[in-house]
Amino acid sequence: MTSPEGDPRAEVMVPREVPLGGPRAMGVRRTLPQRTRSFIGAWCFLDHYGPDDVADTGGMSLPPHPHTGLQTVSWLFEGEIEHRDSAGNHVLVRPGELNLMTAGRGISHTEDSTDATSVLHGAQLWVALPEESRHTEPRLDHFAPDPVRGPGWEARVFLGSAFGARSPVHTHTPLLGAELMLATGATKVVEVDAGFEHGVLLDVGLLSVEGRELKPGELAYLPPGRHTLEVSATDEARLLLLGGPPFGEAIVMWWNFVGRSHDEVAGYREEWQAQIDGDRVRDGRFGVVDHPEPAIPAPALPNVRLKQRR
Ligand code: MN
Repeated sequence: MTSPEGDPRAEVMVPREVPLGGPRAMGVRRTLPQRTRSFIGAWCFLDHYGPDDVADTGGMSLPPHPHTGLQTVSWLFEGEIEHRDSAGNHVLVRPGELNLMTAGRGISHTEDSTDATSVLHGAQLWVALPEESRHTEPRLDHFAPDPVRGPGWEARVFLGSAFGARSPVHTHTPLLGAELMLATGATKVVEVDAGFEHGVLLDVGLLSVEGRELKPGELAYLPPGRHTLEVSATDEARLLLLGGPPFGEAIVMWWNFVGRSHDEVAGYREEWQAQIDGDRVRDGRFGVVDHPEPAIPAPALPNVRLKQRR
C-alpha cells in the first residue's frame, strides 16, 4: 500500500506468545523486538500480559536474574508485584505507578506477584541505555503520575511529556511513556514531538490509530515526522503510547543482557554463571538479591555468534 508523502500510515505489528522464564512460566505477548524492527526510540522490548487469573496461571514468579545496559519498566493495569533488587530496593509495584529500574553496569532482581493479587495484567518494557550511560550505577526510580483528563480521555505520563503533563524521572535519551484511556467513541489528537518515532500498544478495547484498526495486544508503529497522532476508540480502550528519537546505536540483546558485541554479552553470561555456581549466590557485577528461591541460570549461548541489531 502506498502512503501519501509526509503522512506515512501506521505499521501494525502482531504479538507472539512467549513463556516468561522461571520455574512456573507465565505466558506473555511480545511485540518488540520483531524481525523487522528492534526499537521504537530507545524502547527495545515490549511484553504485554493478562488479564490473567492468578489461580490458573500461578502469577508471576521471577527468581533472581541479572540485567545489563538497560532500564526496565513494570507497568501494571491490575494486580501487585513485589520487586527486590541487588541495589537494596524492595518495593511493591502497583497499577498506575512507574518503577524504572536502571541496570546500568549490572543488577539482579526478583519479581513476584503478591498473595493479594487475584488478577495480573500489565506490561514489561525495556529501554536500551546509550553508550555514554550504559555502565552507570544501578538504581530504581519510583513515580506515581497524577492523571490528566479531558473529554472522554484520561492519561498518565510516566516518562517524558505529553497531554500537558511531564514526568520528573530522568531518562538517558529523550523518551515518551504514557497510559491513555479513551471512552467509547472518543477521539484524541495527541501533540507529539516530530523528531520522535512512536508506538501505540493496545491493551483493551478497539482502537483506530491514524486510520489503522488495532486489536488488543497489537502494536502500531509510526515513523518520525508527525506533529500529531490521532487515536479513536470504537470501544472503550486503554493503550500505552511510547516514543523517542531513533536510537541509532547497534546493540546486542540476548536473554536479559544488552551489550554491544557477542563477546561482551558472553562475558556477562559467564560472570552471572560464576556468581550463582554453588550453594549460595556470590557477590559480583550483579550483586546479591535476598530471595528464597534459587537464581535463574542463563541459557546456553547459541552456536552462532550473536548479531548486532539496530
Ligand atoms: Mn528482569
